[in-house]
Amino acid sequence: MTSDIGARALHVLETVFGYPAFRGQQAEIVEHVASGGDALVLMPTGGGKSLCYQIPALLRDGVGVVISPLIALMQDQVDALEEVGVRAAFLNSTQTFEETLRIERLVRNGEIDLVYVAPERLLTQRCLELIDASPIALFAIDEAHCVSQWGHDFRPEYIRLSVLHERYPGIPRIALTATADQQTRAEIAHRLQLDDARQFVSSFDRPNIRYSIVEKTTGRKQLIDFISSEHPQDSGIVYCLSRKKVEETADFLCQHGIRALPYHAGMEHSVRAANQSRFLREDNIVMVATIAFGMGIDKPDVRYVCHLDLPKSIEGYYQETGRAGRDGMPASAWMAYGLQDVVLQRRMIDESEADETFKRVLSMKLDAMLGLCETLSCRRMRLLDYFGERSGPCGNCDTCLIPPIQVDGTVPMQKLLSAIYRVDQRFAAGHVIDVLRGAQTERITQWHHDKLTVYGVGADRSEQEWRAIVRQAIALGFVTVDHDAFSSLKLTDAARPVLKGEQKVQLRQYQKPVKAKRPSSSRSGGYEEMELSRSEQQIFERLRSWRMGTAREHGVPAYVVFQDATLREIAKVKPSSIDALRGVSGVGEKKLVSYGDEIVAIINEMM
Ligand code: ADP
Ligand code: ZN
Repeated sequence: MTSDIGARALHVLETVFGYPAFRGQQAEIVEHVASGGDALVLMPTGGGKSLCYQIPALLRDGVGVVISPLIALMQDQVDALEEVGVRAAFLNSTQTFEETLRIERLVRNGEIDLVYVAPERLLTQRCLELIDASPIALFAIDEAHCVSQWGHDFRPEYIRLSVLHERYPGIPRIALTATADQQTRAEIAHRLQLDDARQFVSSFDRPNIRYSIVEKTTGRKQLIDFISSEHPQDSGIVYCLSRKKVEETADFLCQHGIRALPYHAGMEHSVRAANQSRFLREDNIVMVATIAFGMGIDKPDVRYVCHLDLPKSIEGYYQETGRAGRDGMPASAWMAYGLQDVVLQRRMIDESEADETFKRVLSMKLDAMLGLCETLSCRRMRLLDYFGERSGPCGNCDTCLIPPIQVDGTVPMQKLLSAIYRVDQRFAAGHVIDVLRGAQTERITQWHHDKLTVYGVGADRSEQEWRAIVRQAIALGFVTVDHDAFSSLKLTDAARPVLKGEQKVQLRQYQKPVKAKRPSSSRSGGYEEMELSRSEQQIFERLRSWRMGTAREHGVPAYVVFQDATLREIAKVKPSSIDALRGVSGVGEKKLVSYGDEIVAIINEMM
């Protein structure tokens, strides 16, 4: 029985979606849900969650109901399914009444495979009655972390989705999320009454993403260097903390010839929606955004995600960077961060309205983020460790590729700590560094800090170098940035043994920031990059421009026609017949019929 379902699932995967094999736990999940089981699926972005409910919905009788928080993206989701020949639709407020009636009829008659609805819509009396009267294959609850009050995507309506279990106990439910932490997982299971559901927890590693974190100097200028040297032709996302910075950064990129668009919650709705749509539809656009942008964006070919400001937590950082490289092809996560970021984030926590307990949680999360930035070991190990996963050095992050040199930093650390002590722990980093470097400023004269024994003892190091030491002192827990308005540096208890000479300190040897190198394809494991020869690259470019035209004609995003990975494989295989094209990953029966002749013609014309 089960293996029969397995065979049918594989058949659908091959003929409909055009993929030769399931990835990771997909096969198990599909079999479990198709056989009527409940599931809670935790899989990183790009892991392939959609197939986990789409294929069971196709295998079971009736309609699969997909609950998804963002109505703005439903059209694209439905278009992508229709492109592969799956009968899909959505029900939301953008439709006319006639259209609604038509779709409701299809659902009632079971003449459709998947229907997308937002939770608030699903919970209406009308919709529940529709479901009562229709054959339902399953409920899929996408972005299930929205049920958690701790995350930044909390949606109160999600909590009421427990009604599904009470009202339809016999219909399988599958909840999916890319949020990994234990607390959120427990909350999802509990609030959605999925305590008895089988949990499928995948590895959260994203081997195709290369992580790098650089010291912020010029910020925007560094960003331009990064984009133009490593991703000049690619789509990417740049995250900034504030709306103002989003707009300024987008302007700055445009002035330098990079096609950038802004996105933040303060923009007029229609402009925001238009920018999002262009980003999804066209190739090579850079979206400069606040974290308001991204949830549910399943554009598979985002090649890089940059952070110009320090994220608040590793969860946030991982979720945001996870939007790069969903298609499994090489991608970059790049961040520039500096001491000022730490000061600013601390102040935001202190000034927030949250209660003390919550502030402490926020503070701990920020500390963990800082630890990642200042780590001397593999970034990926550190990230995965945060999510409770053990691993070894990855070979595909900045610290693996150019290992930071560790040096004994006990003496400079002692100098810093005693300078903080000598100025009575009442001054911010800038002044402390001035004292160490023996600067002559008004403030130093005013406070007679030039009389201190520590005055000028750090003149051998640059200001940048001292800033790096301060950041490490914070990350190592010797120093905190105070709550007061001056962000003064304070010593912690952990500083004492260092000051007394009882504890040695390892620091990262300071290296002047250098331009990042273009990522090479070599790495230790995980994925294989498909290198294209020059002529294949030309075919790929030709296919891409054909794709753009076709997508425009059909009014769908380019990736809905074919993904980059598929076009690359076509350029490699150079299929001169429909049969040869059939074997390419990502080419299902429907697409073969829709586009096969055109693709084969392009290949034959270019050979
Ligand atoms: P998630 O929702 O987990 O972020 P998606 O469902 O959007 O991931 O899938 C990510 C990408 O991987 C998509 O481009 C999808 O087409 C592709 N994909 C998913 N499953 C497979 C598979 N078994 N074989 C090949 N590609 C797959
Ligand atoms: Zn690494």
